[in-house]
Amino acid sequence: MSASSGPQPSAPTDPHSYARPTEVSVRHLALHLTVDFATQTLAGHATWQLTRSGAAATELLLDSRDLLIEEVLLGEADAGMPTDFELGPADPVLGQALRIALHPDTTAVTVRYRTAPGAAALQWLRPEQTAGTQPFLFTQSQAILARTWLPCQDSPGVRFTYEAQITVPTQLLALMSASNPQQLRPDGRYHFRMEQPIPAYLMALAVGDVQFEPLSARTGVYAEPATLPGAVDEFADLEQMVATAEEMYGPYRWERYDLLVLPPSFPFGGMENPRLTFVTPTILAGDRSLTSLVAHELAHSWSGNLVTNATWNDFWLNEGFTVYFERRIMERLYGRPYAEMLQALGHAGLLHTLADLGPTSPDTHLYLNLAGRDPDEGLTDIAYEKGDYFLLTLEQLVGRPALDTFIKEYFGSHAFQSMDTTSFIRYLRRELLDSHPGLEARLRPEAWIYGPGIPDNAPPVGSERFAAVDAAGQSWQQGTPASQLPTANWSSHEWVRFLNQLPANAGVAQLSELDATFDFTNSGNSEILAAWLPRTIAAGYTPAEEALHRFLTRVGRRKFLTPLYKELLAAPANGPARARRLYAKARPNYHTVATSTLDALLGRPTDK
Ligand SMILES: [Zn+2]
Repeated sequence: MSASSGPQPSAPTDPHSYARPTEVSVRHLALHLTVDFATQTLAGHATWQLTRSGAAATELLLDSRDLLIEEVLLGEADAGMPTDFELGPADPVLGQALRIALHPDTTAVTVRYRTAPGAAALQWLRPEQTAGTQPFLFTQSQAILARTWLPCQDSPGVRFTYEAQITVPTQLLALMSASNPQQLRPDGRYHFRMEQPIPAYLMALAVGDVQFEPLSARTGVYAEPATLPGAVDEFADLEQMVATAEEMYGPYRWERYDLLVLPPSFPFGGMENPRLTFVTPTILAGDRSLTSLVAHELAHSWSGNLVTNATWNDFWLNEGFTVYFERRIMERLYGRPYAEMLQALGHAGLLHTLADLGPTSPDTHLYLNLAGRDPDEGLTDIAYEKGDYFLLTLEQLVGRPALDTFIKEYFGSHAFQSMDTTSFIRYLRRELLDSHPGLEARLRPEAWIYGPGIPDNAPPVGSERFAAVDAAGQSWQQGTPASQLPTANWSSHEWVRFLNQLPANAGVAQLSELDATFDFTNSGNSEILAAWLPRTIAAGYTPAEEALHRFLTRVGRRKFLTPLYKELLAAPANGPARARRLYAKARPNYHTVATSTLDALLGRPTDK
């Protein structure tokens, strides 16, 4: 809930939560859990301190999904009174409402529970799925999976502080979205505190054979020992990124900023868990070329974590601002031509998504209507790239200095609060549009936010460096040998652009020439591989098959997997059969975030 004083003008209701925080809301969590790798469960208790709106507020509603609720106490864990509770009907996406009747003097509630072995937020990795010899556990709570490992008010509009005691096998380190240890504790018992209020989707836990290396006084990186040295080198600019972000939009409010490099099955590029961003190892390219992803997760420390979308329908407020901020950080650090490449790649992705969804699809509005759907399925590139494009349009109309002042003030005045789209538009009018006559008519925010596609006032997107790449691609198509193309100083972004611009009907002979010259099949850069492999599938270029199989069974990042499986399904002859065979083999390595998307695409493989 918003912490601002005075009555709230009708807080938006969250269609993805059973909670009724305007009556009883959670305020602070004390979490005690034991992590058991043998049964793949977490067990313990959660004590919630409550805020009640008045004497009539007599019931606490929590979200839960697949949790085994053992006991509910009114009060603290050691002194509470057992009480009855009721679990509502189970919805496959939303789970169940956990209803707890409160006494007039109840200020805290304790829930004893354990998670199910298949809890959707949790991914339990066997040692062979890691870079080392120990098992690994990580959580992914966004969008509404926190409720699968914690009974909570799982709505981005509800914030709470927390403390936790997590017990793990003594050879493993536990980390959370909180103050974190930097070395092993002999008793395997770790204490955490998060003193800034966060929504439930930012609850995070990771347990594994992980070590820490500082990068600056307030930044550092955690990774498996085999991965750590490369990660330290890859993220050498981290402190500079934080300092740059602060220069633009105000102080970093979360004390430390550390990274945790996960095993490759992590389903996302990164997850902005406060104080401890989780990142995929697929951005470890060896040349610091894919670190814009870190700038993105860092930017969430302002847009998302500090000022949070009130519901998932307002997701563009999290992601649009974050993409815009990310590219501004990258521009400051590496120059405008570099940032323009990122913008152009994002723009191409946006056009792709718009073509996929169709010109009139409501899913291309910035403000979404996800009621009755799994929010994760509705959260597309639109929120990110169309959201960024809206801000870019505003930048062009009002100028950077005015927009930067507005954004800095927006973050500062709504820190640790949630924001819905209607309130944002009101704020935008009051703080920016109304003081610039004619600006609103030129910006047309309603068309951007409540309408489909890209309004025609959007500025053009271009990149000089990509223009040179496109010229090289043209020249190759007209007969210039690949070895004579001017590729000497190309970054991975330029290679990705080159591959994306290849003609759709590029055949085996053409791909062979490119592969012989540039060795794409053996690239250590995941973005280049992810752009190359779909080409090889479409053309039936068999020398890349082994690399494709290795990639699909090792990497769990959904952004890469979905286009690859789509390309496999579309391949002639035995394409669909091959896609399903590969999927059945690789699926155990994927997080539920990825499998829920891929099951819809490929069908769920039957066991045995
Ligand atoms: Zn993001």
